[in-house]
Amino acid sequence: MRSAQDTQTRAAEIISELRDIVGTHGKRIRLMEVCGTHTVAIFRAGLRQILPEEVELVSGPGCPVCVTADDYIDAAIAYAGMEDVIITTFGDMLKVPGTRSSLAEAQAAGADVRIVYSPLDALTIAAENPTKQVVFLAVGFETTAPTEAAAVLAAEAQGIRNFFLFSAQKLVPPVMRALLDGGETHVDGFLLPGHVSVVTGTETFEFLARDYSVPGVVGGFEPLEILRAIQLLVRQIGAGEARIENAYETVVRPAGNPVARAAIERVYKPASVRWRGLGEIPASGLAMREEYATFDFARVRPLSVETVGDGRHGCRCGEVLRGAIVPRDCNLFGKACVPEHAIGPCMVSVEGTCAAWYKYGGGR
Ligand code: SF4
Repeated sequence: MRSAQDTQTRAAEIISELRDIVGTHGKRIRLMEVCGTHTVAIFRAGLRQILPEEVELVSGPGCPVCVTADDYIDAAIAYAGMEDVIITTFGDMLKVPGTRSSLAEAQAAGADVRIVYSPLDALTIAAENPTKQVVFLAVGFETTAPTEAAAVLAAEAQGIRNFFLFSAQKLVPPVMRALLDGGETHVDGFLLPGHVSVVTGTETFEFLARDYSVPGVVGGFEPLEILRAIQLLVRQIGAGEARIENAYETVVRPAGNPVARAAIERVYKPASVRWRGLGEIPASGLAMREEYATFDFARVRPLSVETVGDGRHGCRCGEVLRGAIVPRDCNLFGKACVPEHAIGPCMVSVEGTCAAWYKYGGGR
């Protein structure tokens, strides 16, 4: 393990090299991190402040709670209001506002909404409550989908028929393509998500370099690992190159995790889904396959929820998620909208960009 002194020395060497490259390059370099965990790690370590002025970091649509559209949240709240339903969810969904209320408000009004740490916990609740329909809110990216698939397969194997997923699962590569196709957000290079890449592998991101001439580097989550990924990105950009590189070699393989990918493939299929701020994107989400329709709550108890757009009271979370603005551009940031009284999901979630800016002081 590196000593603190070694880490500082190495970080200083990287920053010095970055200064040399941007000095020669002569243009600002805009890098997007596509992972909420990276966003928080970057802020926590104060990396924005130590990078050369010319290297700008912008957050992308990497917080799963934040990109979940209002119609899904409204539907989850409607389900929570049903007498025979228990809603199970990761904790960060609880306070996310829909168009009218939140799951936390539904819970306070008497709905049975329970926080779990895994869909397998929800399966246990289903086994313990056979007269109830137990629904797990499947909100996440490629990282959470394998465990959800495993829970469905376990429910099938154990004959547990009152366990369901309500899926808002999303996929990272299609939204990156949509961002680049949209043309609104200029990105010189992507800091690729470490956890997602463990499942997907690096090959799935090759299209960035091939189709858009935009480099991408998979990074770990320690400050020095992030700096190294930025170093590799800036080196490529300075040299006018575009490749996909892996700076998280200890855990990420080119083809990802075949077991996790097979579990996803067995239970889910790609589907067009709606993203907050980005609208409907083809094949950017996961819907449950026909064979598992009896575990798909949206099909078991279809709802028609009337939702008018995303966001409320001037929240610009959608633009933040596209990297089109930064949180301080929102008039409500730090005034009407703070973590204790969040107006939009980007301020609610611990991985939300607005929450990170608020907690860590905004950076540059
Ligand atoms: Fe929305 Fe609050 Fe962020 Fe503004 S500061 S974009 S209101 S979450």
